[in-house]
Amino acid sequence: MLKIKSFEFNPIAVNTYVAWDDESLEGVVIDAGCYTPDENEMLRQFIVSENLTVKQIWATHLHFDHILGNAFAAKTFGAGLAAHRDDEFLLKNFKRQTEIFGLVSNGETVPIARYVDEGDILSVGRYDFTALHVPGHSPGSLVYYCAKAGAAFAGDVIFRDSIGRTDLWGGNYEQLIEGIETKLLTLPDTTVVYTGHGGATSIGYEKTHNPYL
Ligand SMILES: [Zn+2]
Ligand SMILES: [Zn+2]
Repeated sequence: MLKIKSFEFNPIAVNTYVAWDDESLEGVVIDAGCYTPDENEMLRQFIVSENLTVKQIWATHLHFDHILGNAFAAKTFGAGLAAHRDDEFLLKNFKRQTEIFGLVSNGETVPIARYVDEGDILSVGRYDFTALHVPGHSPGSLVYYCAKAGAAFAGDVIFRDSIGRTDLWGGNYEQLIEGIETKLLTLPDTTVVYTGHGGATSIGYEKTHNPYL
């Protein structure tokens, strides 16, 4: 079974997920948003208590709130960062982004170790995820979709009854809507969508209820 644990971290309330194969105990951290020492420790404790090997850190995108814990997670778990090249520029102004939103940061971050693009397959134990490139919230936003588990990690592309904001660096409203309609709404209705903020939703629910679509 693919298991999923979610945490809500940092003042921007980012969802950090751990997804793992309960047989091989191989896992990934998706959007390491941990910010305070307590949050770092919560994540570390969880990985240790479940006896998981963290294979990689997957970024849905590289906005500061989703990568605040990357330096900690990379160091602690010995894992590299997977992200889309089109968001790489955001790493350069990570500290500034953080300060604009009123948070304190030493600016420490990690470079992309694995460039992920549309259609790439990334595995977690026995589970294959397909990367869907859905720009518009950020240029390099990715959705990690696992057909076998019926799950998608969508970052800030879509939320329950909403979509990602498009007024940040490199945002584009038309592009976002088009990407959601062609790449997400075409997934099975039962697909559970784990979003970057707030509760999970499903493709079927958003098809009928999302006022932006
Ligand atoms: Zn974002
Ligand atoms: Zn966010």
